[in-house]
Amino acid sequence: MRGIYGELMRVLIVGAGFAGGVIARELAASNRFRVTVIDKRDHIAGNAYDPLHPQSGSRYHKYGPHIFHTNNSPIVDYLSRFTDWVPYQHKVRAILPNGLSAPMPINRATLNSHYGVELADEQEMKDFLDGVRKPCASPGNALEYLQSIYGEELAELFFGRYTRKMWGLEMADMPVAVVARLPVRYGDDDGYFDDQFQIMPAQGYLALFERMLDHPAIDIRLDTAFSRSMESQFDHVFNSMPIDEYFDNAFGPLPYRSIKFEHRFDEPYKYDVPTVNFTDTEKYTRKTAWALYPGCGGEVGDHVTYEIPCSYEDNNMERYYPIKTVDGWPQRRYKQYAELAKERQNMTFIGRCGQYVYYDMHQAVANSLVIARKFIESTG
Ligand code: UDP
Repeated sequence: MRGIYGELMRVLIVGAGFAGGVIARELAASNRFRVTVIDKRDHIAGNAYDPLHPQSGSRYHKYGPHIFHTNNSPIVDYLSRFTDWVPYQHKVRAILPNGLSAPMPINRATLNSHYGVELADEQEMKDFLDGVRKPCASPGNALEYLQSIYGEELAELFFGRYTRKMWGLEMADMPVAVVARLPVRYGDDDGYFDDQFQIMPAQGYLALFERMLDHPAIDIRLDTAFSRSMESQFDHVFNSMPIDEYFDNAFGPLPYRSIKFEHRFDEPYKYDVPTVNFTDTEKYTRKTAWALYPGCGGEVGDHVTYEIPCSYEDNNMERYYPIKTVDGWPQRRYKQYAELAKERQNMTFIGRCGQYVYYDMHQAVANSLVIARKFIESTG
């Protein structure tokens, strides 16, 4: 395929995370494109970046815990070209109002610790919840959904307070999908996910990205922010920057949530799971002890990271989570941007911020594989 310069088609990819990395690799592997990947940060791997911390010397996830989980075996196969895996079942405990901690998502042990009861089995837990839940045939928001499973008190204690600080919104204003990410349990299973594949890259995500982007047709430029003047030098741009930012907020900014990370070293850590959720009203949502993740190294407590959700304006304009609401105004605004984007034949928006989707890693990979393969076909 010849591009505007009479040579291989030249493609610019904005963002070296999963969304951009997969497209870069696929296009390069087709031998028909010269790919330039830029990232405004000083590293590849996007928000999955997991370097060694200079102070602890151990691995940590710079932008918060990234645990790989999926039911999509072709995606595992695909990524297995770039990494070996280690099995890893993620577990989380929530601090209860009585100061104890118990499994999150709520399970039998959680209710027993919280209420000081002795529900003996799954049936007793179901009977207990039947006594408190507020049935709702078709929940229209996160609050109705959670109250229909757990009742008012548990929904508020375990989800309401966390969600308010995480998103800056009331659960009544939030779509069910956000909280339905957590499985509903009636027995003793204390895993955070239900997926068939729950694994972590054996040498970390950064090593996975180094292999994925290691191709003679891929040129990587770090510390390089996108500017519109670059467009004319390329036949096509795959762009993971916030779509509203690209269009200069033409329809107003899209809402995103951000997170600040507070690192503590040599802090006593008494839990046997790597992540603890704070379901109280203080500013933190989670803390993570990296030594309890496979492949991170170090001693438990050497490096613990606290997460503080915030607006992106308060965090260097770093947008992490697209915010969708029940009344749908952000979704409608995004559609206006998506319409505008259709007029730009030579640009495809990708990833969480480009497509305004709360992607998990495997979904970002799957989506980018489809986009890359369609592009290769359509230009063939
Ligand atoms: N959530 C909550 N309490 C918890 C854990 C999760 O209320 O202890 C809600 C909260 O709204 C959160 C959502 O469930 O944003 C999804 O949680 P998840 O752990 O999947 O969030 P992520 O890891 O993507 O930040």
